[in-house]
Amino acid sequence: MKEPTLGNPQNTIAVLHRYNFAFQKKFGQNFLIDTHVLDKIIRSAEISRDDMVLEIGPGIGTMTQYLACAAGKVIAVEIDRALIPILEDTLDGFDNVTVLNEDILKVDIAELAERENGGRPIKVVANLPYYITTPIIMGLFEKHVPVKSITVMVQKEVAERMQVGPGTKDYGALSLAVQYYAKPYIVANVPPNCFMPRPKVGSAVICLERYEKPPVQVDDERLMFRIIRASFNQRRKTLANGMKNSPELDYTKEQIEAAIESLGRGAGVRGEALTLEEFAALTNALSRKCNSDS
Ligand code: SAM
Repeated sequence: MKEPTLGNPQNTIAVLHRYNFAFQKKFGQNFLIDTHVLDKIIRSAEISRDDMVLEIGPGIGTMTQYLACAAGKVIAVEIDRALIPILEDTLDGFDNVTVLNEDILKVDIAELAERENGGRPIKVVANLPYYITTPIIMGLFEKHVPVKSITVMVQKEVAERMQVGPGTKDYGALSLAVQYYAKPYIVANVPPNCFMPRPKVGSAVICLERYEKPPVQVDDERLMFRIIRASFNQRRKTLANGMKNSPELDYTKEQIEAAIESLGRGAGVRGEALTLEEFAALTNALSRKCNSDS
């Protein structure tokens, strides 16, 4: 296997010039040019030859080279057609890599894992295009794609949102969704000068280690996420009002108030104060009560 050649500014610039590559803002293209950050990502993802890695957005193949050296197999999905001939060149000799020229949001990743990894869980590693961070991560979780872990570079604030608990301004639906499916921890903060071109925002690498079983027991997962959305869509309102106003929920004022009361919380509590355990208990109180009523 060849050694990585990319990951520093000189070689990145040389490749970009050779192909006269024009960055496409709409695809969130900020290429990594720091070998320390690349090493850190590979180490945090704990990649071994047993792993199949899905890389979302390989760019010119910088991280792909590092992944190829550590993993058994790498599938890299890149939307920008202009990058495909570049990837053929930079990944020449890295024989365990397959590049697919597709939009990741349209790829059936569960089917890909079945076909390429016999249905065994895969690892997702990426320097994500920031404009679609949330749909990519939520898609992986909600569609029950077999993933062991997701190690991704995201906007710093988004990484913080995934990690925080109640009582902070960043706490929201994304925090709860991520923490229901995985254990998140930020492994590095990455400043703009580690990328070309430099993004306007700070970045962070976050590792989401998927739970085999969620940390809370909830009878109706979909209902819990409808309740969570309802309480954060109207952040300034009380939880009870947010739930009453939600077009996604169909409970009476009395049912909602009784369920909130069963948590031992006052009627004026806001959704942003509730833990994941409390959202699960609220969901179970509503679904059990309403099932026993009908
Ligand atoms: N991995 C490279 C690196 O670290 O240098 C590039 C990362 S760059 C932040 C994001 C990459 O995702 C770009 O190559 C971009 O073209 C690609 N991309 C953007 N939207 C995509 C999509 N919907 N599906 C697949 N790739 C996408």
